[in-house]
Amino acid sequence: MYDPEENYEPPTCAECGTELDSREHIDAVEPWLHGVEPTFTCGQCGWSALAGDWPMTWGLAVGDIAVSLANWTPMSETFIKEVSRLRGGRCGVVRARY
Ligand SMILES: [Zn+2]
Repeated sequence: MYDPEENYEPPTCAECGTELDSREHIDAVEPWLHGVEPTFTCGQCGWSALAGDWPMTWGLAVGDIAVSLANWTPMSETFIKEVSRLRGGRCGVVRARY
């Protein structure tokens, strides 16, 4: 799991911007670590998606390989898309301050 440490904020619905309940999000990490990525449904509008597809700025992610950058300027969308393409199409960005 890649964790933004104390910067954590729950992801938000891609349709209406409602925050996912942080307790529901964090409670789903354990099964996600064992290979079952949870699907969350927005309580406000009903939008539903896999946990890793919920938009996040300071969220967490579960994955197998990470590219870690320290003291970089914000990554461009082009850079993120290229890393995602090289990794096989699915990529999340977790930002942390250490
Ligand atoms: Zn929604």
